[in-house]
Amino acid sequence: MADLRELYQEVILDHSRNPRNFRKLESADRFAEGSNPLCGDRIALFLNLDGGRIAEVGFQGQGCAISKASASMMTASLEGKSEDEARALFEKFHAMVTGTGPADKESLGKLAVFSGVSEFPARVKCASLAWHTMRAAIDRKANVTME
Ligand code: ZN
Repeated sequence: MADLRELYQEVILDHSRNPRNFRKLESADRFAEGSNPLCGDRIALFLNLDGGRIAEVGFQGQGCAISKASASMMTASLEGKSEDEARALFEKFHAMVTGTGPADKESLGKLAVFSGVSEFPARVKCASLAWHTMRAAIDRKANVTME
């Protein structure tokens, strides 16, 4: 079990140091900004849709390793998803990190590395900031603040 945790930490460190899709999308179809004042995490999320599916995702921002890794891994998991599928993934991820629902680790794939976050209430907002921002972008809300 300890080895598994180390592996999880490695994945999170890798994504926080080398975030995927860390770029602004010019002329994005959807855009939202999110902030988590408690930790100082900020994110800007850009989505491009094609035929009702998320074709391109980009994000920018600054924050702690957890928030950056979560945003990075989220962008990788969103490509090709419909808006409804992205919302459903939000619900699963949110239930996992808040510990409010059964962790559907199989369908969450690599995102399951964040399951340990539920044991650290202060980090839950760091891990879910990008996801709240993504849902705001899909729902055409300009910004979201974690409270
Ligand atoms: Zn944070």
